[in-house]
Amino acid sequence: MADSKHNPGDPRDGTRKRFGRAERDMVALGIATAAIIMFVGTGGVVVPQVVRSFAGVGLGPDKALTSALLLNIALIIFGWRRYRQLALEVQERRKAEEQAKLLAETDPLTGCLNRRSLADATAELITRGSERGEVVALVMIDLDNFKQINDFNGHSIGDQVLRECAARIAALLPKRALLARLGGDEFACVVPLDPKRPEAIDDLAAELIEAIASRSDVSGNGIEITASLGLTRSDFSREVGEEPADAHTLLHMADIAMYHAKRAGKNRYFWFDAPMQNELRFRREIEQGIRRGIRLGEFVPFYEQQIDLSTGQLTGFEMLARWKSPALGVISPEIFIPIAEEIGAIADLSESVIAQALEDAKTWDPRLTLSVNISPLQMRDPWFAQKLLKMLLEANFPPHRLEIEITESCLHENIGEVRTLVTSLKNQGIRISLDDFGTGYSSLAQLRSLPFDRIKIDRMFVTNLTEDSDSAAIVDAVTRLGKDLGLPVTAEGIENKEILERLMQYGDIKGQGFLYGQPQPASVTRDKLASLDLLSEPPTPSAERITPAIDPKTASQG
Ligand code: C2E
Ligand code: MG
Ligand code: MG
Repeated sequence: MADSKHNPGDPRDGTRKRFGRAERDMVALGIATAAIIMFVGTGGVVVPQVVRSFAGVGLGPDKALTSALLLNIALIIFGWRRYRQLALEVQERRKAEEQAKLLAETDPLTGCLNRRSLADATAELITRGSERGEVVALVMIDLDNFKQINDFNGHSIGDQVLRECAARIAALLPKRALLARLGGDEFACVVPLDPKRPEAIDDLAAELIEAIASRSDVSGNGIEITASLGLTRSDFSREVGEEPADAHTLLHMADIAMYHAKRAGKNRYFWFDAPMQNELRFRREIEQGIRRGIRLGEFVPFYEQQIDLSTGQLTGFEMLARWKSPALGVISPEIFIPIAEEIGAIADLSESVIAQALEDAKTWDPRLTLSVNISPLQMRDPWFAQKLLKMLLEANFPPHRLEIEITESCLHENIGEVRTLVTSLKNQGIRISLDDFGTGYSSLAQLRSLPFDRIKIDRMFVTNLTEDSDSAAIVDAVTRLGKDLGLPVTAEGIENKEILERLMQYGDIKGQGFLYGQPQPASVTRDKLASLDLLSEPPTPSAERITPAIDPKTASQG
């Protein structure tokens, strides 16, 4: 096609081209119509002359008229060919549109629907089902031991397991049912259901559990996997006197039931029931509270000290968000961040706390750095780098004092996008560290291919360093890896003196943890810095040295 030869850089090119083509089509149509009219006219004169000449009565056709007739024929052929071309173009464009729609609606790995398209398809199924007196059941499926499979067998085997599970689930579903992969190892099926026969879903759930657990011979690895299922029905809410559930609510209900299945020992299913309704109400309360809290400035930054372990010097702070909810008290980011991500509020929330942190950090000694955590969802925002730079500019905060912490899970999303973002942030002087290293599945190749400035060993390994030999081996391996790659290392989760002493053997690394104190609000942090003479004006060298703020014995107790 002509398109493939064209430079795709300028989007206006496409528009120009389409208009150009449309203009040519109008001209071709005009020419063909005129040619047909003229063909009828000239043909009406020339053909009788030809017939007469064959019969030996006339002089033969007029030469000029014959030429005109031939020209008409050529123009009609031209018009016909153009019409064929146009029909082909329309067909190709339709195919491309269908392809784009398919890509937007499906999960590329398994070919199932994705989370976004499942909501619309479920709404349609509910509407159509109600005309037949049907309801729908939602079955949430979460694989139980997928992380280990990925860790032990690698990504490509993990992908094959997911594809195989999708195929096994699809094979058991009735005709009009929907199957989506919600992300990671989580699937959801929406199945039309006769409300008088809910046991059909019990049967289906039992079959699904059995099918998923049957031995898989992906690449001869003999992988064993089980799944936990959560079930719910679209007419359940009405039974407990609430509005009929939409797709979003059904997903939450099934999710809650699925977690009950996990807690009860995995490899089983649970129906969403009345007592779980309270969890759902709490969840809704949190969702609404988050939206309101962002507007009312209830999300605030707390600060955790980061120390150079070899010198004992304070080098900066990690900002950790806290939600001071008037109704629920101080809430941990581990609760509100995943929910804010799910309801699409993470960018607003994060920007609000980062803006406050930049204002706070401006008053600190300029040698102190500020680290902030970024959600994988923000990394997908093509405007994220610009937004951040705008914030730095507005706060008049030097980019070289800012460090962005991204978690390993970002690396599985779209490595190309991540690389572009990381590079553009680095070009502005912002530093990037890889947070919670060791918990995800990032490979050495990924570590090499992205220009990180630092890796942070996950606190789980550091906290267990002195008690668990596996954790010690991981800390040892990561610090070596850091040295080999020329990447500075930070150990998080230093809870006591013993851990600190072990870590100090590694020489030049940074650390943070409760041994140096719990994360504190801006005012407490400011007071502390004032007492150390670390507020804007240059501090005296001796004042920078920090001694653990709490007794190591009590620190290790939590
Ligand atoms: P993280 O970035 O790995 O942050 C370190 C977490 O470890 C913090 O938990 C901190 O309070 C905790 N911690 C520090 N020292 C110790 C220790 O000695 N022992 C133990 N057991 N824990 C320690 P926190 O504040 O609950 O934050 C949890 C996670 O939430 C953070 O993990 C980070 O991934 C995320 N988070 C926090 N603030 C934000 C934010 O503004 N945006 C985003 N996207 N994520 C955030
Ligand atoms: Mg962090
Ligand atoms: Mg971390």
